[in-house]
Amino acid sequence: MLTQRHDAVLDSGAGLLSPEDAETSLRSAGLRVTAPRLATLTVIAENQHADAETLAQGVRDRLGAVSRQAVYDVLAALTEAGLVRRVTVDERRSRYELARHDNHHHLICRSCGRIEDVPCALGHAPCMDLDPARGFALEEADVVFRGLCADCAPTQPPHVV
Ligand SMILES: [Zn+2]
Ligand SMILES: [Zn+2]
Ligand SMILES: [Zn+2]
Repeated sequence: MLTQRHDAVLDSGAGLLSPEDAETSLRSAGLRVTAPRLATLTVIAENQHADAETLAQGVRDRLGAVSRQAVYDVLAALTEAGLVRRVTVDERRSRYELARHDNHHHLICRSCGRIEDVPCALGHAPCMDLDPARGFALEEADVVFRGLCADCAPTQPPHVV
């Protein structure tokens, strides 16, 4: 499946997003190509599910002085353009990833904050139904699974199969 191959590339950690690809993404989204936008895309590709603070630091490491607000503005523009997906952890924190448009969902550990991707069973939005009687034009269902990751969950006694 195409989506899974794409995931494998993203997970491999190498050559995540070439400067050419970043530039092409910006142009095809109708955005002007600027150094902060290119750097932000590249840093997101290298740090899936990072928060804005981490991304701003990554952009500064590449470009030198860039204000936090400038990076926040870039994140907003990239998200608006559909190049970046914002994952809302809670009302105060967001994490960012390159948009893959595969409608995948997230597991969020409430102890360490780790976020893991989990494929959508359907793979396209919306993957849950509403009662049509509501008359609501459903576009997507944002599914977040909260709990404890394998590292944070209390260890289970070994299970012999
Ligand atoms: Zn955890
Ligand atoms: Zn994700
Ligand atoms: Zn789903």
